[in-house]
Amino acid sequence: MPLEFEILATGATGGMARRGRLTTLHGVIETPAFMPVGTLGAVKGVTPQELEAAGASIMLSNLYHLALRPGIDIVERLGGLHAFTGWRGPILTDSGGFQVWSLGGLRTVDAGGVTFRSHLDGSALRFTPEEVAGWQERMGVDIAMMLDECPPWPVERRGAEAAWERTLAWARRARGVWKGEGGGLFGIVQGSVYPDLRLRAAAELGELDFDGYAIGGVSVGEPAGERRSAVEWTAPALPADKPRYLMGVGYPEDILHAVAQGVDLFDCVLPARNARHGVLFTREGVIKIKNAKYREDERPLDPACGCPVCRRVSRAFLHHLTRAGELTAPVLATLHNLRFYLDFMADIRQAIELGTFTEMASLACRTAGGDPPEGPDMRVHPVLPIPREQRSS
Ligand SMILES: [Zn+2]
Repeated sequence: MPLEFEILATGATGGMARRGRLTTLHGVIETPAFMPVGTLGAVKGVTPQELEAAGASIMLSNLYHLALRPGIDIVERLGGLHAFTGWRGPILTDSGGFQVWSLGGLRTVDAGGVTFRSHLDGSALRFTPEEVAGWQERMGVDIAMMLDECPPWPVERRGAEAAWERTLAWARRARGVWKGEGGGLFGIVQGSVYPDLRLRAAAELGELDFDGYAIGGVSVGEPAGERRSAVEWTAPALPADKPRYLMGVGYPEDILHAVAQGVDLFDCVLPARNARHGVLFTREGVIKIKNAKYREDERPLDPACGCPVCRRVSRAFLHHLTRAGELTAPVLATLHNLRFYLDFMADIRQAIELGTFTEMASLACRTAGGDPPEGPDMRVHPVLPIPREQRSS
């Protein structure tokens, strides 16, 4: 089997949190895990070596983008996605369903698949469930995602049901062609905000015996409460012995909530995108490094962080580079934010092992310091990992 999943520990206080281990042909992923997003094969501004050093055990890439450019044939001829990108660890590729559905009027869907125009050059393209699965196998990825239909939010029940019926038919077809020689195929639960539809989807997908299951159709603009409800209904209904992946959800408080529901894998562009905007996560709150108050601040971004940035440069230096628009600024900021997320996941795993996850989650739900929020993209979440010295007491 190219994918093996074992559960090493569960929340000692009766919670559903799981400490697991997902073994692939390219390495082991300790779960719960965060998967940095390298849409085109690289996390923006970060080398494969740096990603490894930050503690990432898996990278996420996107089939839609790779199929458009450079094309599956080229990736295959150059030895597959691992050889092509230089990232030696496990790779998950998203099927691109979400990107295709985001094209809106530029695509048409029928029972066979989806036809759309490339966002790069306008050329007509078609994705079918069989091809999407086959392309991911040809690139040699460790975890492939089935082609699904991700309904928008909000969507009427009728629309959500029709999307689910099409997704289920596509799930059967993808499962039918999957060879499973180099990696595993994950099914994707849809159903929008309708609990019975989510439960039905989880049960129907479970019968198809996928290698793992994803909760899709979240992070599409819905309020946090609806997103959390979808996770609460769906996660416990998925097969317990397979990994569970919550797609595109990445605020630390959402991760804590989903881990408590038994979710194992996460991805989000948030740490990297925020870094490019000069918004940095620290254990004391979110820092907006452009603020004038950091001009002469000699402290590291986060004194408790072991990343190469915090060990070497000051807030003042990063402030200076950011204000000057220097190329190094987003690179350093991304390295720090990624390390923050990966350390956060390591803390979660340790807390589950120690039986203290419930305490960690509730302790973390306090309002921390940091700079006040500003603008829709700069939402400052109130939840942060707890400084190590507080936790060990
Ligand atoms: Zn750091």
